[in-house]
Amino acid sequence: MSQDCIFCKIIAGEIPSAKVYDRGGVYAFLDIAPVNKGHALVVPKKHHATLFDLPDDLGREMLAALKAVGRGVMAATGATGLNVGMNNYESAGQLVHHAHFHLIPRHAGDGLTLWTQHAYENVEEMQKLARAVVQAIG
Ligand code: 5GP
Ligand code: ZN
Repeated sequence: MSQDCIFCKIIAGEIPSAKVYDRGGVYAFLDIAPVNKGHALVVPKKHHATLFDLPDDLGREMLAALKAVGRGVMAATGATGLNVGMNNYESAGQLVHHAHFHLIPRHAGDGLTLWTQHAYENVEEMQKLARAVVQAIG
């Protein structure tokens, strides 16, 4: 537990939350400021700052939780779609430094645009970048 982490306090029950899931190493609750009503946050119970700090062996449990909570949110809200998102580091909009996945229920025509897209200069620029990513992955 990180002493100054709001999500650690929520998981420990020190701060109330609208809990929707609590199994194994994973906890989920409704976001207090939803993009759409039913917007949920799925988090590891142990404090890890970002995706890159999560232990690989949490993956199976986390995926099961994302699917279970995602289904539950869709059923309870009548949503016909679901966005799964994660902000890592402040440049990407991460405000709470306890890794968390956003599950956002979506309705046809709800008007939400998550991001705008751009074009590469040409195919070679894209291929060059792909090669750099492959090299960085190792
Ligand atoms: P981030 O920008 O870090 O990806 O998202 C943090 C999310 O946590 C935000 O969507 C924000 O509304 C939510 N949040 C922050 N504090 C609280 C809280 O005390 N309770 C709940 N339920 N959600 C919170
Ligand atoms: Zn924490």
